[in-house]
Amino acid sequence: MAGENILIVEDEEDIAELLEYNLTRQGYDPEAVDSGEEGLRVCRETMPDLLILDLMLPKLSGLEVCRQLKADPTTAGVPIIMLTAKGEEEDIIAGFEAGADDYVTKPFRPKVLLARVKALLRRGSPSRKKHDDEMEFESIRIHLGRHEVFSDGHKVELTHTEFRILQFLASRPGWVFTRRQIVKSVHGEDYPVTSRSVDVQVAALRRKMGISGEHIKTVRGVGYKMGD
Ligand code: CA
Repeated sequence: MAGENILIVEDEEDIAELLEYNLTRQGYDPEAVDSGEEGLRVCRETMPDLLILDLMLPKLSGLEVCRQLKADPTTAGVPIIMLTAKGEEEDIIAGFEAGADDYVTKPFRPKVLLARVKALLRRGSPSRKKHDDEMEFESIRIHLGRHEVFSDGHKVELTHTEFRILQFLASRPGWVFTRRQIVKSVHGEDYPVTSRSVDVQVAALRRKMGISGEHIKTVRGVGYKMGD
């Protein structure tokens, strides 16, 4: 059985080779290209299971590639791991805002990257949800169809926006979402939500959720996540 297809977009040949070598050894089926333009083309053509995308590329940057792929409904579902320069918080935030699903800072240990790849492929799989209509996280239960939330067995009355934010955060436990991503997730409804007001909404959400509200964590300088 062939392993998952992983597209690598990296202009530094030695890094691309290191990635290909390690991914192949783990049973994946990697392909490497060395420019953003090629990355876009091959991604649209082959629809890989995952994309490892370098941020610093000549001409078309990794951020721009990420934005374009996430803006296109046919490729938006391809999970993206962004490779960023070490400790550049701005890069990491920009990557998340462009729609990246995770990031690894250079220089990286192959072991760390492989763990992220594995986690992302697992989390990205739609089959992991038992019931499409129900989500559960620790003491929180969310009924999507009925629009009901239970905290520790008690029903919680939430506004539509609060419900959507909770649903969004719970869709990927442990995942960090920026305020802008949260705004985007509730976008299209009749509720005007700005980045600032996300903080207000989350504060209200936490308060209403009582003890379960503690699972909604603030990630300083980035946004919010559900659980650790
Ligand atoms: Ca590069």
